[in-house]
Amino acid sequence: MPELPEVETVRRGLAPVLEGQGLIRVEVRRKGLRIPFPDNLAARLTGRRVARLERRAKYILMHFDDGGDVALIHLGMSGRMIVEGPGLANAPRVASPHDHVVFETDAGACVTFNDARRFGLMTLIAPEALASHRLLAELGPEPLEDAFTEEVLAERLKGRRGPIKMALLDQRLVAGLGNIYVCEALFRAGLSPRRQAGTVQGTRAARLLAAIKAVLNEAIAAGGSSLRDHRRPDGELGYFQHSFAVYGRSGEACPGCTCSVEKTGGIRRIVQSGRSSFYCSTRQR
Ligand SMILES: [Zn+2]
Repeated sequence: MPELPEVETVRRGLAPVLEGQGLIRVEVRRKGLRIPFPDNLAARLTGRRVARLERRAKYILMHFDDGGDVALIHLGMSGRMIVEGPGLANAPRVASPHDHVVFETDAGACVTFNDARRFGLMTLIAPEALASHRLLAELGPEPLEDAFTEEVLAERLKGRRGPIKMALLDQRLVAGLGNIYVCEALFRAGLSPRRQAGTVQGTRAARLLAAIKAVLNEAIAAGGSSLRDHRRPDGELGYFQHSFAVYGRSGEACPGCTCSVEKTGGIRRIVQSGRSSFYCSTRQR
């Protein structure tokens, strides 16, 4: 499931292909994904020129130079963007029944929104309605923005009940964090996923803030190098090999830690509100 770094990698991969380009052909192959597509979606995009691509949380926003409706895309569980066209060394691709929307630019590039499980979405929003739109209105701050400081994080956690793991997954508290990077950030910060959220103040909040920014920035950097060095032969953006410290590693030794697998059983997996948490009970308190 794409998280913030994967979505940012997709945005960065699409930007040079779409920004400044006119959409000469848009093909919409079904009525909708998680929610119905807007009426006449293809006609409402065809002929317009993309000004810029923005990311907010896990949404990609396609702004147009006419100042009209913005296209909002969410990749859901399995959504992917496939880029084909001149100058790209990918092999010809066989169309898939999961190709739902195809954009062709006046430079001859083709971008396909493919989503096998169809939990993704695409809709159109008037620019003046973005801030109050139901998908965007309640989102918390962007974790990588400078305005998201340790004071802001501590203030948002102050007095909050329930485990820190669940607080960080709450998109109203901070936008765009998912299960994987929350596990990784808590490991790096030395905080147990079970710790009461409200106790993460002061130096703990500072450590957590630094850890969140670091794990996201490192993953985005890894995504960026995947765009440069390992362009997928099928032109797909945003999915790359990660190495996680704790995520998916129950029973293994954790990197740079004094715990011993023999004594502690290594990285633990617990379930919190139906989601797996991976952590080290020696290092994370
Ligand atoms: Zn450990």
